[in-house]
Amino acid sequence: MRKALSADATHRHVSALCTAGPIHYDLQEVIDSIREGERWRTLADGHSADIHIAGACPHDGCTLSPYIATDPGSTESNNLENLHRC
Ligand SMILES: [Zn+2]
Repeated sequence: MRKALSADATHRHVSALCTAGPIHYDLQEVIDSIREGERWRTLADGHSADIHIAGACPHDGCTLSPYIATDPGSTESNNLENLHRC
């Protein structure tokens, strides 16, 4: 997972995801892929969770949209915001 600084520099939001291989996918590519019916899952510490399209970045006042998120019930290590950097 990679993050990029928001336009107003108050926080960082997810900007790209990485797969097992050396390739990373920009946020928009992941969203396009989900819309085409691909399944994306996080995998961390042996747990996995579905990634889905979310309305917008959860940070207060941020309008980056669409965004992606995992299910609220995900374990902390599996939460999209807490994935290992790559
Ligand atoms: Zn944001």
